[in-house]
Amino acid sequence: MKNIIFIAPPAAGKGTVSAKVCEKYNIPHISTGDLLRDEIAHETKLGIEIKEAMAKGEFVTDEVITKLLKKRLSAKDAKKGFILDGYPRNITQAKIYDELLNELSYEMGMVIFLDISKEVAMERALSRIVCSKCGLSYNLLVKELSPIKDGICDACGSNLKARTDDNEETFIKRFDTYMKETYPLIEYYEKKNNLVKINVNDKSADEVFDEVNKIINNKKTK
Ligand SMILES: [Zn+2]
Repeated sequence: MKNIIFIAPPAAGKGTVSAKVCEKYNIPHISTGDLLRDEIAHETKLGIEIKEAMAKGEFVTDEVITKLLKKRLSAKDAKKGFILDGYPRNITQAKIYDELLNELSYEMGMVIFLDISKEVAMERALSRIVCSKCGLSYNLLVKELSPIKDGICDACGSNLKARTDDNEETFIKRFDTYMKETYPLIEYYEKKNNLVKINVNDKSADEVFDEVNKIINNKKTK
């Protein structure tokens, strides 16, 4: 079974590697955010409850998320594996997840930490530019993905803003908050001997994908 959780700070490349893994192994990408949104969109009994709770400014309880997650993980397409996104966010959820896997007779799977330094992450994040007019995206760290003319959108000719939503200050805050909130999880999975670290600082997306493949294939699967 290939059930995978990525622990990844902002700009570590989780989205890219997740998409590649799902495609190669034909496993679903399961996001608790999507599960909640789907439930609300389909106006199920639970979905209506969630919507009402959110309208009152209440948090969605672990009980609700667990219920949705259990239903989704039990589905046929998840039996040979999945990538779980946005969960667990804390130790309480990690323990609930352990129980859930147990109930479903699923193995623990792999927790892969995409380890990136704050400096590299910031450089990457701030090198992304999206044209505010046409939505075309650029990456100043990659020659092929940079605009042909500095500061001008190739597609529509409008001025490209130098930076994305993030500036250094907001990025550092986002990164530090993530690490602070996630550190207990890293420790938790380290203790369980379930954590594999990949240093992604000097790796391209393809190289990170290669490392992930090695981890997936070295792991004995039931
Ligand atoms: Zn444009």
